[in-house]
Amino acid sequence: MRKGSLIVVSGFSGAGKGTIMKKLVKENAEYALSISMTTRKPREGEQHGVEYFFVTKEEFEKTIADNGLVEYACYCGNYYGTPKAYVEQMRQAGKHVLLEIEIQGAMKIKEAFPEAVLLFVMPPSAQVLRDRLVGRGTETEEVIEQRLNRAVEEAAGIENYDYIVVNDDLDTCVEEVKAIVKTAEHAAYRNLEFIDSVRGELSSLLKGDN
Ligand code: ADP
Ligand code: 5GP
Repeated sequence: MRKGSLIVVSGFSGAGKGTIMKKLVKENAEYALSISMTTRKPREGEQHGVEYFFVTKEEFEKTIADNGLVEYACYCGNYYGTPKAYVEQMRQAGKHVLLEIEIQGAMKIKEAFPEAVLLFVMPPSAQVLRDRLVGRGTETEEVIEQRLNRAVEEAAGIENYDYIVVNDDLDTCVEEVKAIVKTAEHAAYRNLEFIDSVRGELSSLLKGDN
C-alpha cells in the first residue's frame, strides 16, 4: 500500500482552516486530521481529545523531553505541538494526514519531511478576515488584535508554501485542497521508489532479452 501524504495547512487565524479541515475529514475517509497538543485553554464547546489535547505547560514540556512531538511552536503565548505516533500510524495505513499548524511548525515539517505538501489558506480580504475572527466570537478584542498582528508576521512567509487556496466559498475551497493533494501525489520526486522499481524492471527485462 502507498504511504499517505503529509499535508500541512497554515493560514491566518480566522481564515477558516478548522472549518475546511473538518469538512474535508468528514466527507473523505482517506483523510485523517492530526490532533495537536496545546497549553491554550479550551474555547467554549471544545473537548479534550477532539479539537486538541489540552495540557499544562509541565505536561507539554515533558512530552518535548520524551521526544513525543514531530514539531512544536509557541503561538501568542501558548505551546502547540504535533504528537508523533498518530502521524506515522495513519500514513502507514495509507491515509493523507492533515496538520493544521502555524508557520514555524510548518517550516520544521518541511525540513524533516521534504515530501510534505504545504498549503496556505488565504481569506478573500483582510476585512473578511477580521469579520470572521470577530464573528466567531471566541476571542476577546485584545486577543483578536494579537492574532491580526501575528497575521502580519505570517504574511511575510507565505512564499515558502507550495500552494495557496482562497477560502471564499467553502465548498470550492475544499475541492481545491483535494485537487492539490491529488496533483502533488504525482510529483516525480514523490515517486522515486516507483520510478526506481520500473527502471530496475526495465534493465532486467533487457538483460533477459540478450
Ligand atoms: P481558523 O481555524 O483558520 O482560525 P475557523 O475555521 O475557526 O478559522 O473560521 C473562522 C470563522 O469563519 C468561523 O466562524 C467560521 O464559521 C467562518 N468561516 C470559515 N470559512 C468560511 C467561509 N468560506 N465563508 C464564511 N465564513 C466562514
Ligand atoms: P488556535 O488557538 O486558533 O486553535 O490555534 C492557533 C494557531 O496554532 C493556529 O495557527 C494553528 O494552526 C496553530 N497550531 C495548532 N496546532 C498546532 C501544532 O501542533 N503545531 C503548531 N506549530 N501550530 C499549531
